[in-house]
Amino acid sequence: MGHLQLPEGKKIAVNLGTDFDAQSLWMGGFNKPSPSYMSRGEFGAKVGVPRLLELYERFDVKTTWFTPGHTIDTFPEECEKIAEKGHEFGHHGYFHENPTLIDAGTEEELVERAFDTFDRRLGIRPTGYRSPYWDYSDSTLDIVEKMGFKYDSSLMGRDLEAYRPRRWAIDWENGNKAGKASHVIELPVSWYLDDFPPLACITGSSTGQQDSNTIYERWRDIFDYGYERVENAAFVSCVHPQIVGQPHHMLWYERLLEHMVSKDGVWFATTDEIADCWVDDEEDIANMALPDIRTTASRPDYYPNF
Ligand SMILES: [Zn+2]
Repeated sequence: MGHLQLPEGKKIAVNLGTDFDAQSLWMGGFNKPSPSYMSRGEFGAKVGVPRLLELYERFDVKTTWFTPGHTIDTFPEECEKIAEKGHEFGHHGYFHENPTLIDAGTEEELVERAFDTFDRRLGIRPTGYRSPYWDYSDSTLDIVEKMGFKYDSSLMGRDLEAYRPRRWAIDWENGNKAGKASHVIELPVSWYLDDFPPLACITGSSTGQQDSNTIYERWRDIFDYGYERVENAAFVSCVHPQIVGQPHHMLWYERLLEHMVSKDGVWFATTDEIADCWVDDEEDIANMALPDIRTTASRPDYYPNF
């Protein structure tokens, strides 16, 4: 496997990714565009974004804001401020759509539609893709490659290291086979480094509203593990302005930043900058040249439905 070659003197790359979903979060898969849910998205734009911009500026952090096209069309001024502060924008769907629930043609069209918005509103074309639901359809990796993205940040085949994602050929009888590797660099995400599942309050869900200190300690421990035990590590986390922007969350997030800056060799970077550090080895080059073999057999009849 190849590896990240971090800049001289750096031990770990940190991307404090910020998924600025705002109201679109409640309009895609969650599908609750009621006035109350719209106000939660509004809170993210009007309160969460300025709090995060102030925090990142105070700690001299540049990061990546994965933002759906619909959010940019709804809150263009907030997005202009994010851009003015020198942060990167990443692709995050148009409607915050779930790629597994739409056909390949629609999925591709919505990527194009978000690109149009990025161009019209901000004059940019993102180099990175993050799936709105951190889930992939069978076509997503093909679309990400076809659209010319440099990197993806949605998969979970590693945790603190970048890698080239493989296409898995599913074979029910003989074991699955790791197939052709992508030429897109993967900067993996982790559900343990997402503020939404443990801290968001969703009616009918048993998660959410967990203790802030538990989350602080979890994120700090993952960071410490990467810093102390993984060479050329990348810590890629994800917060949502409407969640982390709450006062008690801002304080644990700030404590995490204080902990990180107390160590030598911590490189706060955009995911685009981290992806540029990737160096292939011979195995990666060989894996990218493999024939593109997909699913080889359907599920046998005698398998139970599960
Ligand atoms: Zn999102």
